[in-house]
Amino acid sequence: MSKVHPESVDFHAVGVSSDSELNPFRIVQRQVDEAAQHLKLDPGIHELLRWPLREIHVSLPVRMDDGSTRVFQGFRVQYNDARGPSKGGIRFHPEETIDDVRALAAWMTWKCALVDIPLGGGKGGIICDPRTLSSGELERLARAYIRQIGHNIGLIKDVPAPDVNTNAQIMAWMVDEFAFMHGYNEFGVITGKPIALGGSLGREDATGRGLMLTVREAAKKLNLDLKGARMVVQGFGNVGSWAAVLLQDLGCKLVGVADVSGAWANPNGIDASALQAYVKEKKVAAGFAGLGNPVGSEEILELPCEILAPAALHNQIRKDNVARIKPRILAEGANGPTTPDADPILHQNGVYVIPDFLCNAGGVTVSYFEMVQNTYNFYWDLPTVHERLEQKMVAAFNAVHDMSQKYNAHKRLAAYLVAINRVAEAMRLRGWA
Ligand code: GLU
Repeated sequence: MSKVHPESVDFHAVGVSSDSELNPFRIVQRQVDEAAQHLKLDPGIHELLRWPLREIHVSLPVRMDDGSTRVFQGFRVQYNDARGPSKGGIRFHPEETIDDVRALAAWMTWKCALVDIPLGGGKGGIICDPRTLSSGELERLARAYIRQIGHNIGLIKDVPAPDVNTNAQIMAWMVDEFAFMHGYNEFGVITGKPIALGGSLGREDATGRGLMLTVREAAKKLNLDLKGARMVVQGFGNVGSWAAVLLQDLGCKLVGVADVSGAWANPNGIDASALQAYVKEKKVAAGFAGLGNPVGSEEILELPCEILAPAALHNQIRKDNVARIKPRILAEGANGPTTPDADPILHQNGVYVIPDFLCNAGGVTVSYFEMVQNTYNFYWDLPTVHERLEQKMVAAFNAVHDMSQKYNAHKRLAAYLVAINRVAEAMRLRGWA
């Protein structure tokens, strides 16, 4: 009989989210309700948009290095596929809940509609702390997840990708497991793969690049010169670090940065490229020379700056701290960094908000390009990827900006109006309500 690992989860307690105002799925439902009211949506369409169409809960037995078996819990939510196959990343997080995954899957639905790619929205999550797992354990966990959901995903069904704590190597193991299950290679089943396994050029920095492009467009609207503009970046992972490097290339100065290892302010500027290289090697920012003075993790958001990019986790800007957060541009690299109560206040204070599912849509846009290249088995060069990404991001930015002007709506509501209208139209045409 195999030994059960002492940290195997209690099945009855997993994935339950608190029902507080900060529960991201409740936030999604509130946001949908507000948009539905403005758009005068058909009640059937409105109700359907408030819920995931489909969700899968899985138990994942993994043989640990010490010989014991540990059972992990995971989810895959296919929120809405009216406009095309579901699309969205897979997160590994110790505090993952089904409501987080639902919310993130809903945001993927709006994100794909907003950049006008023919995909729906999905998201996956596994409750685990990847920092405590060896590479072999991570590989077995990734493969176990695909064995459980492998018949419910595919190029024309649902296409996962990297997200918080997952990367190209994990995608490679997953695509390999899928190939074993089905007996053939279907590279387009997962995006964010290594280049040698059907990945797209330009996918790695795509989310940060999209953020940079939307900031560039917002600066034009505000007549803000980006040369010397001060930026603060919270979270220095893939999104935050690339955003900082690419904005620095446009002349912005990184005056504050935070990650799991701490938060720092440096009015003289932190070299974003050097910090990125350091973090790649050491995993955290702490210890890098030139970080400046340590500040509190909340204080980082309140530093004087022109551009603030929260690129960590959700619920960072709330009613209780929003009055002290006053950049010219708030570029939401993370998913859900601002709670609904804070939005109207940011709008009143004249902060130009680039809402998450616009600001961080570059990643899924290049994921879509990756699927297209996999389907044709013909690969584009980097300038082609960059040019097509720029077209998509600028068009989406202008759609939101124009909608916000037309209805004097705050930018998130404007983004919802554009995106939900597109999803609702597909649902209507399909006869769903
Ligand atoms: N995880 C990324 C996001 O939240 C990318 C998803 C994808 O490429 O499918 O947008």
